[in-house]
Amino acid sequence: MERITTAIIGGGASGLFLATALSADGKTRLFERGERLGRKLSATGNGQGNITNLAVTSARYFSIEASGAKRASEIVRRYDGEALRTYFAALGVVLSADERGRVYPASKQASAITDALRFCVENRGVDVRLSTLVTALEQAQGGFILTVKSADGESERIFAKRVVLCAGGKAAKNFGTDGSAYALATGLGHSVTPLYPSLVQLKTDTTYTKTLKGIRVNDGKLTVIISGGERVEFTGDVIFTDYGISGDAVFRASAFIAEQIPSGKVSATLDFLPNVTEADVLSALRQKQAAFPKLPKSELLFGIVNNQVGRAVMKRAEGDLQRAAALVKAFPLELKGSLGFDYAQVTKGGIPLSETTEDLESRFAKGLYFTGEILDVDGQCGGFNLQWAYSSAMLVADALNNER
Ligand SMILES: Cc1cc2nc3c(=O)[nH]c(=O)nc-3n(C[C@H](O)[C@H](O)[C@H](O)COP(=O)(O)OP(=O)(O)OC[C@H]3O[C@@H](n4cnc5c(N)ncnc54)[C@H](O)[C@@H]3O)c2cc1C
Repeated sequence: MERITTAIIGGGASGLFLATALSADGKTRLFERGERLGRKLSATGNGQGNITNLAVTSARYFSIEASGAKRASEIVRRYDGEALRTYFAALGVVLSADERGRVYPASKQASAITDALRFCVENRGVDVRLSTLVTALEQAQGGFILTVKSADGESERIFAKRVVLCAGGKAAKNFGTDGSAYALATGLGHSVTPLYPSLVQLKTDTTYTKTLKGIRVNDGKLTVIISGGERVEFTGDVIFTDYGISGDAVFRASAFIAEQIPSGKVSATLDFLPNVTEADVLSALRQKQAAFPKLPKSELLFGIVNNQVGRAVMKRAEGDLQRAAALVKAFPLELKGSLGFDYAQVTKGGIPLSETTEDLESRFAKGLYFTGEILDVDGQCGGFNLQWAYSSAMLVADALNNER
């Protein structure tokens, strides 16, 4: 049986970061089931590659297990946004931040990040096996045996002294992440928390919003009310769709409520005009009614909000001006669910951090490490998930390099 030192399972964001940071020993092999490295990475940030965020040091991470988010934040503080920027500078990639602190390659091409990592991996002599699926992982004397299946259907068993599982979660299966890789860890004694889609479009009752399909509310304020009364506000674009709502405010909100959505214990309201008070909307409505007494009530909100929104609001308010003004400021959106894992950018939940050591090494199988989204860590929208991929990979790279 062929013997290698380190097997990296998954050539996505964290697998690539790791492969670039491991000491070159000529015995590291990276297995990627897809035909190309970093396919998801090249699609991030709408193809622009939102790689990190200037506000990365604050608590931007979630976990299902209570202690996980704190540990993740500590790891991110240790290998922080500045470290990531320095890392890319060394690869000749110039990064720049937008007005909201989101950091992108200056070229605004996510593929530039993938290319830089790919070149670096090649330079370090990492043996990359594309179209190769790792189907099984067993513990063996002094290491692990991997069963790998190549595109031609041939299966092969390989011994690796150490294995790093960088295989991602269950979100966006078209990029190779269908959740099947969790089994590689559960087979070695690990558990997986309940999993939820995060950074995803939300389904709502569409009784009052059917006519609004395609309308974008620029800089609306979406308020989510989580069971127990906690309110969280998100200002940004909200786009009405045939199933509910999309847009950056919706994606950001979904990370906070992913767990509660299935139980129906969360509700939301949309403020169409965050910078105008309810009293001012009401006064404008009354003024217009006085000036144009023949104007149908359904048209009184014209010039105040989008015409179609105005009609929908007035219909819901049944022509009552006071109620219409209140609805402009807090239009209830009954949440029914999300579009699910296939449309989500990130998985909430995964392998609990408590099942790993300080170095993200398995507590059950010595020599097995984890990076990235397969762990029970998810970040807010805005570059925090790729930062986690980087930070967790650098931590494991340091641990492995020190072990030699
Ligand atoms: C459309 C989209 C846009 C996004 N935009 C952003 C953004 O702008 N900023 C941000 O921070 N985050 C973004 N994310 C999230 C971010 O891309 C992920 O959190 C990150 O890529 C996770 O890195 P990872 O290495 O853990 O897993 P992945 O990058 O998902 O890589 C896992 C890899 O493992 C491979 N694999 C899985 N199982 C096996 C197996 N058994 N054998 C061999 N290979 C296997 C998969 O094919 C895949 O290539 C986005 C996600 C999506 C889907």
